Amino acid sequence: MKVSTILSLLPGCALASDFLSVALYAKDPSHLYNVIRSNSQLDYGCKPVVLRSQEEHKLHAIVSPEQLQHLKRSLSSEVRIDTLNHFSKRQEEYAPIGSGDRFKGGKIAPRGLGSRKPGESADIGPILNLDEVHSALKGLEKEYGIELFTAPHKTYEGREVYGAAVNKAEKIKKDKQHIYFTSGIHARERGGPDNLIYFVSDLLWANKHRKGLTYGNKTFTNTQVKKALGAGIVFIPLTNPDGVAHDQKNSNLWRKNRNPKSAVATDPRSVGVDLNRNFDFLWNYTLHFDPSVEPASDNSSSEAFYGTGPFSEPETRNIKWVYDIFPKIRWFIDVHSAVGTLLYSWGDDINQAVDPEQNLFNPEFDGKRGVVEDSVYREYIDEEDWYNIALQANRTTDAMVAAGGRSYAASQAVGLYPTSGASDDYSFSRWHKDKSVNKVYGYTMEFGYPTNFYPTTNEYLNNIIDTNAGFLEYILTAIEIGLKD
Ligand SMILES: [Zn+2]
Repeated sequence: MKVSTILSLLPGCALASDFLSVALYAKDPSHLYNVIRSNSQLDYGCKPVVLRSQEEHKLHAIVSPEQLQHLKRSLSSEVRIDTLNHFSKRQEEYAPIGSGDRFKGGKIAPRGLGSRKPGESADIGPILNLDEVHSALKGLEKEYGIELFTAPHKTYEGREVYGAAVNKAEKIKKDKQHIYFTSGIHARERGGPDNLIYFVSDLLWANKHRKGLTYGNKTFTNTQVKKALGAGIVFIPLTNPDGVAHDQKNSNLWRKNRNPKSAVATDPRSVGVDLNRNFDFLWNYTLHFDPSVEPASDNSSSEAFYGTGPFSEPETRNIKWVYDIFPKIRWFIDVHSAVGTLLYSWGDDINQAVDPEQNLFNPEFDGKRGVVEDSVYREYIDEEDWYNIALQANRTTDAMVAAGGRSYAASQAVGLYPTSGASDDYSFSRWHKDKSVNKVYGYTMEFGYPTNFYPTTNEYLNNIIDTNAGFLEYILTAIEIGLKD
C-alpha cells in the first residue's frame, strides 16, 4: 500500500486527492446565495465568489465525497452541480515544488518572464520553495541593492517573515514607498509568492538594462518601468511561511497558519487560523453582522476560523506593521488564487455613497450588516473613492486580459456574500478609523483558474504573465489617480 493511500485513510489527514472541485450553476444568483447560506461551512476558496457565466451564474467549492453527497441532497431544482475534477486525477500534472536552492543563498538573482526575448526559454523551473523565496530576495539585494527587512513577529513554528522595499533611487526613503503587495497568506495558493518575486525581478532587470517588458500581448516601455519603480514598492512575498511549509510538504490543500492554540485533538484540520479573517475589520462578526450570515467562523475546524482576537496572529501583525514603517503606502494588493478576479472594497456589504451614517464603526447597525439582498444596511463609501477604486480594478483586469486572453473580472469584494477580518478591508478602513494615517485603497487579486490552487506548469507560467502585466498596470494607474491624499 502506498504511503499516500495509508494517510488518506486516517481521518483528518486529508490529502488534496481526497477532495473534489465542484461548480454550482443557477440562472438566478439568489439560488446560489441560498446554497452558501445553508452550507456556510463548505470550503469556497478564499471567499464565496459568484461568477457570471453566459446566461448562468457560477459558484465554486471544494468538497469531500461525503460533503458532496450531502450537498447534492440539499440542492433545490434551480441549482445544477458539476464535478470539475477530482484532485487525485490531476496530481501527476501539478507543477512541482523546487528542491534545494536555485539562487544559491542569494548569489544568483532571479529573472522574470517579462524581460525575456521572444524565443528565449521561459523555463524558470519549479515553484519556489520556502528557502528559495528568501534567497531570491537576497539575490535581488545583491544584484540591485534593494532593501530587505525582517518583520518583527516570528511565526508559531519560529520562522521569520521577510520583505523588501524597492525604489528607483539608490537609498530607500520610507516616506517614498506608495505601493504595497503581499502574498502567500493562504498557504495552498501556489505560485502567489512567485508572481511577486518575478515581477520585482523584471522591473529591476529592465531598469538596469534600459529595456521594456513584455507579458504575452501586453508591452510596457522602459519609461513606464522607471515610472513604476519611482512609485516605491514594498512587498512581503510570503506572509504565512508555516502554512506554506506544511502545504508544500503534504500537498493537503492547507490554507491556514499552524497555530495550534484552538485545535482539538481529534481533528488535525482544526490547527491554524484563517489569517484573512484575523484582521481588525468587523472581526467580532457575531456582534456586527446579521445572524443569518457567517463572514468568518468561530469553529477552529473551519477553513475560515478567525482566531482568538483581531490580530491574534503574528502573520497578520507583520502585515499591519508595514503600514507603520512605510506611512505613505496608498495602494495595496493581497495576492490570492484561484478565481480570476480583482476585488475592491468593501467586503462586508454592498457599497452606497448616500448615507455616511451606515458605516462599519456605527454600533447602531450592529447585527444588521452583511445581508446583500436587503437595504437595511449598506456600507458607506465616498463617491470619489468608489470611482477611483473601481477605475483601478477595471484598468488592471483589462491589462491582465490583454496579456493572456483569458477572462479576469473586476468586482466589489462582497459579491453575494460578506467577509469580515480581511486584509483588503482592513487596509481601507484604517483611515476611516483614524484620519491621521494615510488612506489606503486595498484589493484582493485572485489569480488563476477557479479552485485550481495547485496549477500545472503551464498554468503557473500563465499566472505569472497575467499577474505581472496586472501589477505593472496597477502601479501606473495608481500614479495616474494619485499617490497622495
Ligand atoms: Zn486566498
